[in-house]
Amino acid sequence: MPQPTPHVPPDVLLREHGLRITSPRVAVLTALAEAPHSGADAVIRAVPQTAETSTQAGNDVLHTHADRGLVRRIQPTGSVARNELRTDNNQPHVVCRSCGAVEDVDCATGQPRCLVASDDTGFVIDEAEVTWWGPCPACRNQNAPAHPTPGVTHA
Ligand SMILES: [Zn+2]
Repeated sequence: MPQPTPHVPPDVLLREHGLRITSPRVAVLTALAEAPHSGADAVIRAVPQTAETSTQAGNDVLHTHADRGLVRRIQPTGSVARNELRTDNNQPHVVCRSCGAVEDVDCATGQPRCLVASDDTGFVIDEAEVTWWGPCPACRNQNAPAHPTPGVTHA
């Protein structure tokens, strides 16, 4: 089982990253805490549409969060970009080849060890990503091909 992401309240996260606390910023962080691996559309839909906010504003918030390191964007090959709250451990993922479902999975040997290259070949490695691929349980149990559902994660 993956280690649970420690819950840090959105206002604390924003302050830690030097960002002003605004309702769209809080809404984006809350949406990703509730539904990790969401596509941008799903995250932006979670931002209340008011006079001050719009789809573009939601997009801007998502970009700001990614730039400031609050949100990590992952893009499995052939899938829409997904977003998740960034943690220091660069959580590995498993991705379904049929429906694009994404789940968090820990390395069998423990994350730090698994992410250490046997030879850095002179590079100063500062990041590693691990993605495993294969059919999810729902797709394995279906004979009919699954329809992609971007932004939706199997519970
Ligand atoms: Zn699937």
